[in-house]
Amino acid sequence: MPFFDRILAVGSVGVVALATVLTFIVNDDVLPVLDNWHWTLSIGAAWLLAWRGERQAEADLPAYRRWFSRGLACYAVGQLIWDMQALFGWRGMPTPADFFYWLLGPCYAIGLLQALKIHLSAPRLVAVKLDAAAMTLALLGLILVLYLSNAPLTALSELVVLIIYPLGLLSAANLALLLIPFLCLRINTSLILLVSGLSLLGYSWMEWNLRALQGEPEAGSLLNVLFSWAGLLLGFSAYDWHLECTAANERLRFYRLCQRFIPGSSLLIAGVTLIVIIVQNIDLPIANITALVTTAAILLMSTLRQSLLLSESEKLLETERLIEESQKRYEHLAYHDPLTGLPNRLLFEDRLKHALAHAKRNGGALALLFVDLDRFKDVNDSLGHYYGDELLIKIARRLQKRVRADDTLARLGGDEFVLLMESLSENTEAAGIAQTIIELISQPVQLREGHVVAVGASIGISIFPKDADDAMTLIRNADSAMYRAKEIGSGSHQFYTQDLTRQARQRLRLDADLKGALARQEFVLHYQPIFAGSADADLRIIGVEALIRWRTADGRLVPPDDFIPRAENNGLIVPIGEWVTVAACRQLAAWDQETDCRLRLSINLSPKQFHDARLLAGIESALQQSGIAPQRLVFEVTESALGQYQQHAGEVLTTLRDMGVGVALDDFGTGQSSLSRLRQLPFDELKIDKAFIREIPTHPIDGQIAANIMQLARILQLTVVCEGIETEAQLRFLQAEGCKRFQGYYLARPQPAEQIPALCRPPVPTLPEPQANRQRPRHS
Ligand code: C2E
Ligand code: MG
Ligand code: MG
Repeated sequence: MPFFDRILAVGSVGVVALATVLTFIVNDDVLPVLDNWHWTLSIGAAWLLAWRGERQAEADLPAYRRWFSRGLACYAVGQLIWDMQALFGWRGMPTPADFFYWLLGPCYAIGLLQALKIHLSAPRLVAVKLDAAAMTLALLGLILVLYLSNAPLTALSELVVLIIYPLGLLSAANLALLLIPFLCLRINTSLILLVSGLSLLGYSWMEWNLRALQGEPEAGSLLNVLFSWAGLLLGFSAYDWHLECTAANERLRFYRLCQRFIPGSSLLIAGVTLIVIIVQNIDLPIANITALVTTAAILLMSTLRQSLLLSESEKLLETERLIEESQKRYEHLAYHDPLTGLPNRLLFEDRLKHALAHAKRNGGALALLFVDLDRFKDVNDSLGHYYGDELLIKIARRLQKRVRADDTLARLGGDEFVLLMESLSENTEAAGIAQTIIELISQPVQLREGHVVAVGASIGISIFPKDADDAMTLIRNADSAMYRAKEIGSGSHQFYTQDLTRQARQRLRLDADLKGALARQEFVLHYQPIFAGSADADLRIIGVEALIRWRTADGRLVPPDDFIPRAENNGLIVPIGEWVTVAACRQLAAWDQETDCRLRLSINLSPKQFHDARLLAGIESALQQSGIAPQRLVFEVTESALGQYQQHAGEVLTTLRDMGVGVALDDFGTGQSSLSRLRQLPFDELKIDKAFIREIPTHPIDGQIAANIMQLARILQLTVVCEGIETEAQLRFLQAEGCKRFQGYYLARPQPAEQIPALCRPPVPTLPEPQANRQRPRHS
């Protein structure tokens, strides 16, 4: 407490205490003056204390608290007017001072109501108001019945004055009391001071007015000093007003009980009033009417309040039910996959741990099947995620219908499902289920808007206790086995072996190494020449195929077959492919500077790059940067790159052709070679796979196949490149069958860029006419 406030507090208590003592000492003439002095000083001090308290708490002052100082200010104004009246000797009822004095109670009531409003719901606030009104009416009824019989009322205004003081002050006191159970408050000093101040003042005014009606009120009486003490109590309570809530369970239970008994207490007081009327035989109509009216009003208000609280508690119960429901929903969401409704990883791991514990106790076996969809990404990329999601939902439903009741099917994320088979009798059982799952997944799925798609599945199986005895290792091993199944080919299942763990580790290391290789620019391009000509003398270099290699930090040159499949799997092929295009185009431009030889450049395109939205923009920018004509570029794609979703591949290839770039079908004959695909897609060139060339001329069937492919290509007006020529005999045979373009170790191996210009001279090759933009009706 600051020094000034301390002086104010001690000073005001001292003055009132002195006035109390003087009341008994000084002679009668001085008493009225003494009364006015201590009233004026005490109420002035009370207001000043309330105001100072507000100033101290400025930062976190609740707005309602200002009503306390406003009330005390009104009271102080009333006192000043009273002093003036006393100066002029004006006595009567009511006097102008009454209008201001009276405002103290309502101001406090407003403030307290606002405090309740901050913390209570609307129905509870109405219930408190009804409680406060009922309690005030009950008390007022009792007071009036007790006092009215002694009050010689001559005018209605006198009755009003008699009523309004206790009405205002008691309502405020009641509200302050009701704050305790409704806001679950700890009873602190400021609350005690406030309730006692208001009650004391209410009582003093009642008594004073009664005496005033009965004759002159006595100057210098104890009642007069009570006014000053009550004022000071209000000043002190307002100075340090604060609410403290309690969280103690016992206290909360007690307050809940109190709340239930409030209407009962009001009715009890009303009952006492009626008993007083009967016992004292009061024959004053106004008192009887007041008692009856207040009792009826209290009854009405109590009923209303009970029904309000009842409906609110019903609402609370309803809210509780809703919260419980949403909690259950959240719990379900936390443990289930929102898309398929299947258990998620968390729940699956939990069940797996339980199943393992159970199997360990009972010596049982269990199998874990790790299912990964094949070509799911193609659906997502070509049709969009919306259809991808629908596919996952439908596949999950299919699987769920077929798994045994004791088994747990879960979705771990993306297109990965996992099945836990408990009480396994033998390994073949797991293999049988794996095969069933593969067949189920492979059946075409009908999606919205008439789309029908077919995906495959690869499954890895790990068995407890053979492969692992903890949940995490069991999952990891099944995952490794699944990778092996993927490598073998779509639609197969694999059991886990120790070797797979080693491979999985290598895969992880390779992933990390590849990332580093890209950052450190460890990739290099070698170029394998492509020759054209019908006789040996004619053979001349017309182009090169860019073939990537990885030069590791220790100087090893890693061939593409050792890292491209992994890069395709982890997505790194996209940035690697971008780099190849840019580097190869730049190299072609460099050769243009060095030689007159205008070579064509073939670049291999991976399936993953097809689904990369930046592919076409990347190619365009590489062409622009290097200044190479699009007609000198050929992109080689394998049949597997086209996948099942030809529509998307067709769009990309057509755009490339529209740009003027050539498109070649690489390794023809090894994939799912299809004539209709050849007819539908806009290829310029066809590269017969080296597998058919290798056995020529010893294996006559291979030679026949190669010859047939060349005939087919002629019909379809496609340029044929025979790759993998390793011997002179192979070259002769293919030349005899009409092949005009050749690639193979016999002619030239893939080699570093600087060795290519030497191959250009002499003789100087001539660039064939660009064919990329020629129109073929069958592609329309
Ligand atoms: P590919 O596109 O069919 O490339 C031809 C492969 O055959 C090359 O292997 C080449 O060295 C090899 N080859 C050429 N002539 C002969 C021969 O007479 N006998 C034998 N046995 N092989 C011959 P390489 O360089 O190891 O490339 C292997 C595959 O890696 C390529 O097959 C291609 O599919 C892929 N690849 C290479 N570079 C890239 C690249 O930059 N991007 C992508 N996506 N794939 C690439
Ligand atoms: Mg190729
Ligand atoms: Mg090839």
